[in-house]
Amino acid sequence: MALSRMRGGIALPLAVEGFARPFETLPLPSRLILPLIQDEGGLLEARVKKNDAVQAGQLIAENPQPHRASLHAPAAGKVVEIVSSFRDILGRLVPAVVIEPDVSTQRDESSAPEADPATLPTVLGMVDFDRRTQPLAAKLNDAAGRRIETLIVNALDQEPFLFSRGRLILEEGQALLQGIASLQRLLSPAKTVLVVESRVPAVRRAAAALAGGATHVFPLANRYPQAAARMLARAVLGAEIPYTAGVTVADIGGLIVDVEAVAALGRGRPLTQRFLTVSGGRGNLHNVRVALGTPIGRVLECCGIAPAAGGKIIAGGPMSGPAAADPGLPVTKETAGIYVQGPAEVNRPAEAVCIKCGLCVEKCPMRLMPFLIAGFSEKNRFDEAERYDLFACIECGCCAYLCPVGLPLLQFIRFGKQQILGRRKGA
Ligand code: SF4
Ligand code: SF4
Repeated sequence: MALSRMRGGIALPLAVEGFARPFETLPLPSRLILPLIQDEGGLLEARVKKNDAVQAGQLIAENPQPHRASLHAPAAGKVVEIVSSFRDILGRLVPAVVIEPDVSTQRDESSAPEADPATLPTVLGMVDFDRRTQPLAAKLNDAAGRRIETLIVNALDQEPFLFSRGRLILEEGQALLQGIASLQRLLSPAKTVLVVESRVPAVRRAAAALAGGATHVFPLANRYPQAAARMLARAVLGAEIPYTAGVTVADIGGLIVDVEAVAALGRGRPLTQRFLTVSGGRGNLHNVRVALGTPIGRVLECCGIAPAAGGKIIAGGPMSGPAAADPGLPVTKETAGIYVQGPAEVNRPAEAVCIKCGLCVEKCPMRLMPFLIAGFSEKNRFDEAERYDLFACIECGCCAYLCPVGLPLLQFIRFGKQQILGRRKGA
């Protein structure tokens, strides 16, 4: 069994019961809200208008740039509104398509479109559901010009209390095999490695049953943030990826694609749903299959989870997911999970100063000086923050989680990045 080979990070107890919960298919809501930014590929252009009838899987928006991901109707119904300015979960103002679904129909009735395998990820609207949600076509296009020796299919869950990737190994084996075969045809890697949580015997057994030929299982103890690309590449390929802007795993002969994206590719249908863990705390865990555009509050209702006053809804995992200020915000391709924090868990900004304990430095998996880069960002000293490798931060949140005085280090770091990027855009 391979052990975590990551420096720093956090070992939290594994809630094994989360992997035992089968996916529940949630009912369609009365309205599906589909913002026209769904990944890092940028703004989509609507291809439908108000009052149009749509079929499940019909193209509703696409990106004029090449190698991006289109957007499709999650269900048959009617376009009731094109909102010109919808504030999404990251605070961006974007257009959105609102569909009133015909709840009497099944949402999964779309058929597989005819397309060249190389353009299929664009046509199907595929993304890689990683910490950064990237169009899968862009990632594959970037890899196409290089020699990919190892295709790494990542089934390690991104954060503690998320289990959907492990669960996909148990439930979606056939789609996963087909997705792996498609990627192998496109990339011709010498080997394919399926990385799974080593401490869950059922997941390991299910993964072993999928292995064969050039596909091997790589069990790994998932110490957070082991699933992040640089950490995973280091564990699997045994090589360090230097932090230099633009250097990726593909530069050392690997390509990491997450298991949900691979299974979606294998299903061959437009991407209109997400497989998510919804967590209301230990003992209240659900794995769900939910249509894109479903309001997060509706997902919680379906799971019988009522956020307590003073708590917080996180769209993602507890370590680094953004807070959903409004339960009416929809599930998008960027939603990694739903986690409800109780009032005691909410990390309130403290009137505190750094006591120089060094814990954040010791546990930073990117070997940064979080207290310094966060401190410079807080004081608007962005050049200095950048000199201390602000942009090498993978935003895992380990530093903020461990800081004994509760400094919101991750918030300061994100603030610094936004300010610098905003200034560069405006320059
Ligand atoms: S500085 Fe960034 S990479 Fe390092 S622990 Fe903090 S959030 Fe994670
Ligand atoms: S963990 Fe908190 S208190 Fe300790 S050095 Fe880092 S910022 Fe300072």
